[in-house]
Amino acid sequence: MTDIEELLLSRIRDVADYPEPGVMFKDITPLLADPAAFTALTGALADVAARTGATKVVGLEARGFILGAPVALRAGLGFIPVRKAGKLPGATLRQAYDLEYGTAEIEVHAEDLTDGDRVLVVDDVLATGGTAEASLELIRRAGAGVAGVAVLMELAFLNGRVRLEPALAGAPLEAL
Ligand code: AMP
Repeated sequence: MTDIEELLLSRIRDVADYPEPGVMFKDITPLLADPAAFTALTGALADVAARTGATKVVGLEARGFILGAPVALRAGLGFIPVRKAGKLPGATLRQAYDLEYGTAEIEVHAEDLTDGDRVLVVDDVLATGGTAEASLELIRRAGAGVAGVAVLMELAFLNGRVRLEPALAGAPLEAL
């Protein structure tokens, strides 16, 4: 494990049975409160943006906003929020996806992504991959290209990586 990986891992708090029984919640607030760790994380994610040739950074509500905005600034790119449905005031594209029980919907401002863009999606945790998959669908429907998906951590036992494969279409999924 690299020094950066060790630092990041040491600042993630496992909270058992939150928000419901059986879930091990990965709490990144200790990491956000440590400027050395936060700087290392956003720097590593900005490196992914540079490596993948991204032209824009999409952050997924809500922790993807906290990470995605500084990553966009550090990479010299624009930041685009993908929000839960009903929060964006302009004309949007909306995408539904399945949850364990029921469905959820996310949105992006249609004018924020164009056909010349290559978009990097940033979030804290990749779990089942449903949210990231829906965001990639939004990016494609907007006519933009996918540069990749970059997350702090991947819960590998949930197989989100496999679920994302078709939507990534060869673009990388990087889990730090
Ligand atoms: P999914 O769509 O299943 O990949 O879930 C991803 C979203 O839910 C991300 O935005 C995560 O922030 C959040 N999430 C899912 N599982 C966890 C977990 N165990 N700990 C922290 N966040 C999680």
